[in-house]
Amino acid sequence: MSGAVRAGIAVDVGGTKIESAESAAPDVVHRIPTRVDEGAAGLTRQVLSAIDRWAPRPGERIVVASAGHLDRAAGRVISAANLPWRDHPLVATVAAATGCELELIGDATAATLAELAHPSRARHRDGLYVTMSTGIGMGVIRNGLLDWQDGTGERELGHLRVATGDDAARCGCGRRGCLEAYSSGAGIVRRYLDLTGEAGAEPSVADVAAAAEHGEPAARLVLDQALDHLATALTTAMTRVRATILVLGGGVLRQDGFFPSLRDRLRARIGPGPAIERPIHGSHSTLHGAAALCEHDPHVMAALTHDQEGVR
Ligand SMILES: [Zn+2]
Repeated sequence: MSGAVRAGIAVDVGGTKIESAESAAPDVVHRIPTRVDEGAAGLTRQVLSAIDRWAPRPGERIVVASAGHLDRAAGRVISAANLPWRDHPLVATVAAATGCELELIGDATAATLAELAHPSRARHRDGLYVTMSTGIGMGVIRNGLLDWQDGTGERELGHLRVATGDDAARCGCGRRGCLEAYSSGAGIVRRYLDLTGEAGAEPSVADVAAAAEHGEPAARLVLDQALDHLATALTTAMTRVRATILVLGGGVLRQDGFFPSLRDRLRARIGPGPAIERPIHGSHSTLHGAAALCEHDPHVMAALTHDQEGVR
């Protein structure tokens, strides 16, 4: 343990890993793999074990950032594409097991707070945080305040229609032509497999990027389309919000060359004005956001509106 005086514990529950930290020292990260095959009860046990690592004390705060559709007011995870929770009373369950106060927040929302409420970005009153990993998530700051209504929902950025027609790529949501079907990590891999007809071991996004680097036509096409569609969708979102900054996070954009390629495409569409930046907190924006919320960080608290209820 860090020994720092802490307000509590921050947890980030994702489809591949569960990360946790003391809220006063969010860079000292404890990480365990997410075992989705263990079902909803198993996943809750994994979250409790991540919390136990930091020896929670009754009365402390715990902030859990989770993927998926949340009902924050009710403390429930309604659904999540990559997690087995369905209308799951996470807050009540963890509070009962730990004796701690629990708060639930969306993973992209927590990352948005960490990145866009950061004091170094205070001059930006309107901005977007977008994360590209297995799926695509987004958070919005308007006039310095987090917009709880605009963000990571399934009908949001990831499911913006970017292609039409019968040959448009099929999305996990059942429709065709969604951004996620082309530009998420899962979408890139699926498109590559569709085009190459390859069987056997499923490639990673890094494998597809390496193939493109070696000039393989299918890989190049898939990545070009992924970045083009992403640039188009992000341009639409930035124009709508009148964003002066876009922060791009997530594992897909940490592939060599992805960030500059996307930035070039965005510059061609939006011009030189808005800032296009990488996350301050690297791959731990969500955990930092949960920790800041736990600590009642003044910059993050100033970005929170009173409208914190409702499904998000
Ligand atoms: Zn979709």
